[in-house]
Amino acid sequence: MINLDNLKTRARAELATARTNDELEAWRVKYLGRSSDLSLFLRSLAEKTLEEKRELGPKANGLKQELERLLFDKQKIAGTRQPVRSGFDITEPGKNLNLGHLHPITQVKNELNDAFKFLGFEIYEGPEISSEGYDFDVLNFPKDHPARESMDTYWIKPETDVLGNGLKRLDLRPHLTGMSVRYMQAKKKKEPFRFVYPGRAFRSEATDAGHERCFYQYEALIVNKDISLSGGKILVTTILERVFGRQVEVRMRPGFFPFVEPGFEIDMQCLNCSGRGCSVCKWDGWVEMMPGGPPHPNVLKAGGFDPKVWQGFYINIGLDRITMMKHGIDDIRLMHSGDLRFLNQF
Ligand SMILES: [Zn+2]
Repeated sequence: MINLDNLKTRARAELATARTNDELEAWRVKYLGRSSDLSLFLRSLAEKTLEEKRELGPKANGLKQELERLLFDKQKIAGTRQPVRSGFDITEPGKNLNLGHLHPITQVKNELNDAFKFLGFEIYEGPEISSEGYDFDVLNFPKDHPARESMDTYWIKPETDVLGNGLKRLDLRPHLTGMSVRYMQAKKKKEPFRFVYPGRAFRSEATDAGHERCFYQYEALIVNKDISLSGGKILVTTILERVFGRQVEVRMRPGFFPFVEPGFEIDMQCLNCSGRGCSVCKWDGWVEMMPGGPPHPNVLKAGGFDPKVWQGFYINIGLDRITMMKHGIDDIRLMHSGDLRFLNQF
């Protein structure tokens, strides 16, 4: 092994005596050329241990740069400056490029997409700007239903057509369910189907740890001629087990939503305490996961499916919520903050 300090002393002393162009070139070849002790040493670093590389690499590279600079200064004085040689050094440690990655919500969405595709579901997307017609009328919300206002929908000022007739109110969809009717209407042949539709929904409400004005939902709808409630429950269980990677217990309680009949609140046994009760589940042992149930006959009718022949099952998963549960995140606002200290943890 060479002694870098000795090498430096020798190189400086010899450079001090070099005068002519030839002498400077000879010095360059001897101390910086491809076969110089320093270059050979730098190349040999590749076989050294990580510790040795860390210690010797910067030192040797520093010496190389110093010698190059000394030569440069000397050539300037001697007026023999030559074009700089390419300084590419294969022994220099590489730079760590900062690659991006998928957002935790997108990761969970992709997992759900995979799980549903495996179960034969189609994936569908619809417009974020929707209408009162699709978000309330076809979903069996009565005309005076408080949810039309209390859902804190963002309404878009309606335009009038050229004849001055007012058009239906447009909105930023407050939920995804209207897409199910768009999908059913678009189906020319009335035949059994199963599809999912992930996306953003918007509500004009105050934000806190559990609420955001813009959030992600994931809905699924199966329509067939014979779907039982237990079939729906098996579907929910399968999906949750896929997301959480372990066995889960699911229960269905009656709940009211205009677009389902009968409607259910679907709960999952708390994964944190296995149902014994803890702060995550507010000592209940169960965590509310999603609404669901068979589509209301009026919804099937609006989609062009005869409710006397067809039945189905909806589930509506809060994507932010399920992602928070999966990773133990306690504030939904972190999800959309764009804060890299948060995002880099996933
Ligand atoms: Zn618990």
